[in-house]
Amino acid sequence: MITVGSTPYGREMTTFSPVCGDVLVLTEAELAELAAIPDPDTELESELPCELEAGHPGPHLAQAQASRDLEWWMLWQHARRDLMILEPCPAETTDGDTVCNLPIDHPGRHSFDLTDIGGRTPAPHHQQKILELARRRTGPTG
Ligand SMILES: [Zn+2]
Ligand SMILES: [Zn+2]
Repeated sequence: MITVGSTPYGREMTTFSPVCGDVLVLTEAELAELAAIPDPDTELESELPCELEAGHPGPHLAQAQASRDLEWWMLWQHARRDLMILEPCPAETTDGDTVCNLPIDHPGRHSFDLTDIGGRTPAPHHQQKILELARRRTGPTG
């Protein structure tokens, strides 16, 4: 029998990993803290899906807010939850078109290698900032 289809090599190249997607429901106190951030980039969401690769080690992670060059991330695991300012991951696709939306040193694959679950998309001007930060970090002057 002859099998018609693409080679497994080509298939592997375009395989995306699933996203964790564990959902954190923010408390009133956390929402109030996030609402106090000046010049917010995005609307506040009361439910945040984890943006890491499914099966990742350690706490779940989701961006809660971004403003200017700063990104606020919620980390949660069991009863523990933390709001932290983290630097962006400097990774980008080989063509330089897409940057990783996750913070630096995140576990698992980069966001551009994960399936889109219809979650957060950074505002274009914020993506540009992330790109500039990445360039600065990987450039010859760094
Ligand atoms: Zn997770
Ligand atoms: Zn990354």
